[in-house]
Amino acid sequence: MSGQVIKVKRHEKLGVLERLYVPMIVQGLAVTAGHFFRNLRGFITGKNRTDFVVQYPDERIDYPDAFRGMPVLVQLDNGQPRCVACGLCEFACPTDCISIVPGEIEGARIERYPEAFNIDMSRCMFCGLCEEACPEEAIVMSREFEISSYDRRTLNYDKERLLVPETLLKRRLEFLRGEYDRVHAGGERRS
Ligand code: SF4
Ligand code: SF4
Repeated sequence: MSGQVIKVKRHEKLGVLERLYVPMIVQGLAVTAGHFFRNLRGFITGKNRTDFVVQYPDERIDYPDAFRGMPVLVQLDNGQPRCVACGLCEFACPTDCISIVPGEIEGARIERYPEAFNIDMSRCMFCGLCEEACPEEAIVMSREFEISSYDRRTLNYDKERLLVPETLLKRRLEFLRGEYDRVHAGGERRS
């Protein structure tokens, strides 16, 4: 079962009926009642159920590719983060929940790396600005969102907790390349 994106038309100018207020309430109730009875009929007969209820957490839907869960760091095959500790995501983050300590490996092809990379998930609002700002596809929005906790201190994710193998993030990376028409880190352009 996959999620569906619905585009809502918004009219800036209200018509006469909208300004009268009551007809629109009646219209709203009619829509709600229509859904209720259609769903009830589907529930009783087991046929033509156009509306559905997800029995979360036993049942889950496949979220659209644009879905944004918590941000994670892309981990390369050699176990290292793809991040080069440029700090752009830290700068772009509106809630100041990213903190990076850059390090350098002398003589390496890519010298900079994050010695420490922390995200305070109790402040993160899953906006995705860090992902947009990153020039390296090193931080992406995952599909994970079940991170609630009774102790805020456990929501301060360090680099080790943030790293996710690139292969598991393939779907998001492909989506981003299509969305922003980006050139792949390896030089390929996504078709
Ligand atoms: S998703 Fe938004 S709030 Fe969360 S770390 Fe990224 S930029 Fe900051
Ligand atoms: S995740 Fe991206 S934007 Fe953030 S420091 Fe690393 S390379 Fe720079």
